[in-house]
Amino acid sequence: MAIQTDCVIVGAGPCGLFQVFELGLLDLKAHVIDALPKAGGQCTELYPDKPIYDIPAYPVIGAQQLVDNLLAQIKPFHPTFHLGQQVTELAPLDGQGFRVKTSAGTELMARTVIIAGGVGAFQPVLLKLDGIEKYENTQLFYRVKEPALHHGKNLVVLGGGDSALDWTLALAEQAASMTLIHRSDRFRAQDASVGKARALEAAGKMRILAGHVHAYDHDDRRITGLRVKTVAAGDVTVPCDHILAFYGLSPKLGPIADWGLNLNKHQIIVDTEKFETSTPGIYAVGDINFYPGKKKLILSGFHEAALAAFAVKHRLFPNEKIHLQYTTTSPVMHQRLGVESPKDA
Ligand SMILES: Cc1cc2nc3c(=O)[nH]c(=O)nc-3n(C[C@H](O)[C@H](O)[C@H](O)COP(=O)(O)OP(=O)(O)OC[C@H]3O[C@@H](n4cnc5c(N)ncnc54)[C@H](O)[C@@H]3O)c2cc1C
Repeated sequence: MAIQTDCVIVGAGPCGLFQVFELGLLDLKAHVIDALPKAGGQCTELYPDKPIYDIPAYPVIGAQQLVDNLLAQIKPFHPTFHLGQQVTELAPLDGQGFRVKTSAGTELMARTVIIAGGVGAFQPVLLKLDGIEKYENTQLFYRVKEPALHHGKNLVVLGGGDSALDWTLALAEQAASMTLIHRSDRFRAQDASVGKARALEAAGKMRILAGHVHAYDHDDRRITGLRVKTVAAGDVTVPCDHILAFYGLSPKLGPIADWGLNLNKHQIIVDTEKFETSTPGIYAVGDINFYPGKKKLILSGFHEAALAAFAVKHRLFPNEKIHLQYTTTSPVMHQRLGVESPKDA
């Protein structure tokens, strides 16, 4: 059964999250969909520990802290999140809004849609070996959904970032064997994790190889080993049952390009009054949109979200007068935010 909602927000980056807030102030409910398993978009995925200096009223704030604050700020509006699923289809329904479908089979009937898709949905960078894609989700994995699936296996983890090291440490003791392969001896992951991996290696519980995977061995049914050109020992074959590849994520505009919206290169053209796209009822905010003078900054996306919310409200309730109300003084705003009105408000 399709979920009915006022508004679907495609993308849970900072602008998608703030969009929930602006809709909530106008008493509109939203469902938020993101391809990633966590909210936060680029802030969480690309630079969680980095300080941001140009968020108004925060002389400095960590990117993840900004996302955590946004999540706290939208709590009163109880958005429904559908994470780890990409929006694959968006189709108009004869003046009745839009049908939205995701890669996980979720179906929503939305009266309006706001696309806050940033630079696109983040997809894992793939292991580029001829024909290896046919082993995806049986022997080759880009995400760990069920850790127990990998217990008792000869595991090879590829990559040198936090995900690679975290899963190496989480699975090393349960695996039949564990090999971590990274292109060099220098890892991008936290020093503490690298230290733990080296300690496990010293205890004979895993192996760390610096090298480049260039081929794989297989029989009729399955991959049996990975061939690695190592820095220290030349060509090495590593027997393996499961490969966990963590080469990072890269954004792909993906299905958004097929939704019939007018684009400027990889961005959706909007007006600057409503942030509406070429399809009435579909709006776009944040890095995904384009208009003369557009700057891909979080604060620009926040402004766009405020105006898009008013436009959505007007579209859904064309006969209602929509007043601008201050959150400081308006009892209606206080009620929506679930805070007490000061006595003299
Ligand atoms: C290293 C770095 C430093 C930065 N520093 C600053 C700074 O100091 N100040 C500043 O203002 N900005 C900074 N930025 C830019 C800032 O991060 C972006 O402007 C901001 O993240 C845009 O937010 P957004 O919500 O529009 O998109 P994003 O953060 O890109 O989020 C979009 C989300 O949409 C999802 N998505 C896309 N398509 C689909 C789909 N079809 N289905 C489901 N989900 C989908 C993606 O998975 C993603 O999570 C920086 C960026 C980088 C990379």
